[in-house]
Amino acid sequence: MKDYQAVFLVGCGSCATVCKVGGEEEVFATQEWLEECGHEVTGSMILDEACHIMRAAREIRRFRDQIADADVLLVLSCGAGAQSISDCTDKPVLTGVDPLFLGNVRRFGQYEEKCSLCGDCILNETAGICPVTTCAKGLLNGPCGGMEDGYCEVDRQQQCAWVRIYQRLEKQQRGVFSRVVEPKDWSRKFKPGKHFIDRCSGKNSDL
Ligand code: SF4
Ligand code: SF4
Repeated sequence: MKDYQAVFLVGCGSCATVCKVGGEEEVFATQEWLEECGHEVTGSMILDEACHIMRAAREIRRFRDQIADADVLLVLSCGAGAQSISDCTDKPVLTGVDPLFLGNVRRFGQYEEKCSLCGDCILNETAGICPVTTCAKGLLNGPCGGMEDGYCEVDRQQQCAWVRIYQRLEKQQRGVFSRVVEPKDWSRKFKPGKHFIDRCSGKNSDL
């Protein structure tokens, strides 16, 4: 931040608000902190969802005068939100958050990482429990030798993902470990990600 004097703040009214990293309260606290540090805050906005590029662009237009006065935009949201903003302005954009994962909502304010979006899903084989994400080693064919009493050697508080898979398959009377799962096709998870899905046109392709 030291390279920039005037700052425009952007928060997100969705996940970042619930996680208490980018809602009104945090934007206000960040503003106070920046001003104490000698920065000028030219304005702020809280987007409904910072990841929504079209809405981000609209709000950026609405706040264009305050943004024009700023040297930089500081975004308190996930990386997807920060990139929406970057795409909609020529000003430098900084992020104030270090996001960890894309989470399922367990209940209000509680998120759980269940899918790593690997592009080659094996949930049909694993009773709907993802070992790529929830096994510490991402194993595809059963537990490692470190499993003890059903718990993971990496975190003894966590049930072993493969024990959970085994128990659920058994409960559903499905074949347990009936075949060897082939190594995953990681070529489908290419980077940089170029996936583009347009629900309106039905287009589902690479950019
Ligand atoms: S295998 Fe796991 S990480 Fe891959 S798409 Fe399925 S749920 Fe997501
Ligand atoms: S104990 Fe189970 S969850 Fe932990 S790393 Fe080994 S197989 Fe994966």
